[in-house]
Amino acid sequence: MKTAARVKDFSIPKTMKAWVLEGPEQLRLSEKPVPEPGQAEVLVRIDAVAICGTDVEILTKGLPAWIKGGLPFNKNFTPGHEYMGTVVKLGAGVDEHRIGDRVAVEIHAGCGRCERCRMGMYTSCLNYGLNYGENNKGHRANGFTTDGGFAEYAVNHINTLVHVPDEMSDEEATLIVTAGTAMYGLTVLGGLIAGESLVVIGPGPVGLMSAAVGKALGAHPVILTGTRDSRLNLGTRLGADYVINVQKEDPVGAVKRITEGKGVHYVMECSAAPNALNEAMDMVNRGGRICLAAFPGEPVPVDLAKLARNNIYVFGIRGEGMRATHRAAALMAQKRFEAKLIHTHTFPLEEAPTAFRYFRERIDDAIKVVIKVN
Ligand SMILES: [Zn+2]
Ligand SMILES: [Zn+2]
Repeated sequence: MKTAARVKDFSIPKTMKAWVLEGPEQLRLSEKPVPEPGQAEVLVRIDAVAICGTDVEILTKGLPAWIKGGLPFNKNFTPGHEYMGTVVKLGAGVDEHRIGDRVAVEIHAGCGRCERCRMGMYTSCLNYGLNYGENNKGHRANGFTTDGGFAEYAVNHINTLVHVPDEMSDEEATLIVTAGTAMYGLTVLGGLIAGESLVVIGPGPVGLMSAAVGKALGAHPVILTGTRDSRLNLGTRLGADYVINVQKEDPVGAVKRITEGKGVHYVMECSAAPNALNEAMDMVNRGGRICLAAFPGEPVPVDLAKLARNNIYVFGIRGEGMRATHRAAALMAQKRFEAKLIHTHTFPLEEAPTAFRYFRERIDDAIKVVIKVN
């Protein structure tokens, strides 16, 4: 649904519906006060929020959410970080946005004062999680260290807001931050130059967006590997030039065949498979670069000698720094790829537990499950 057709009533109630995390696996629909935007903040009426694998981790283990110096359980904490909505109230000093603006959000508003924030690496803020008590450095990572988007309203720092064009649906706009993560990975790799080659390992949401963003930036060829044909077919529709089903073909051999033995310039590792880094090392050429965008559950053995001998660079990313989300949103606004292809299901706010079940059990081939709040 587009806002153009929606009644523009931005009146703000005193309380709102919000899901709060009690114990592990326990989400409860609760009534909370609508938060007040402070200096350089706005109040966002949440229109849609997507479920992410990290939300499931938070639900089960607590981490990586971190509230007031500890695990997020029983702290009246509302998770959810991939949301979009409408600006309905401006905090002090805000003239960058107007009431009624449609916005998607970046997750991280760093403290703005540490070395990393000053470098644009605000997702790796050195004051991560410090937003309370005497240690209040003003850091926010909504859905991780501060309240997030499984609710009717959230407060956001203006630095985290990304304009959403009228033509883009609410559901598609929730994917801007996912595309932004892919863009950040490619940025950290050094910035993709048209004609350079890219392998993406793992066709989850970030992997699929990495193939799409890489293609939109001119990568050639873009090669996507995975285990499920349905996901790989989606990758083709999003811009992958070649897809490799690793259950049918050795991915390293396939990459060598496609590149005529040369290997590729870049690998985006989005699978978290234990052997992915070793395989990536065999896919890149000498001096090639690898970005790790997924987290294996256990420490994994790596052939470090091969890494050093071949002058291979390995990078890790956390989230979506360096305004990558803005660049990804620009590509989406220009319809350079159809992000909405990965949105598969929609549920109302009250049915969040069902939405989570669809996402976790991949019911009906679920990829991005969106909760439509308004
Ligand atoms: Zn996420
Ligand atoms: Zn910082």
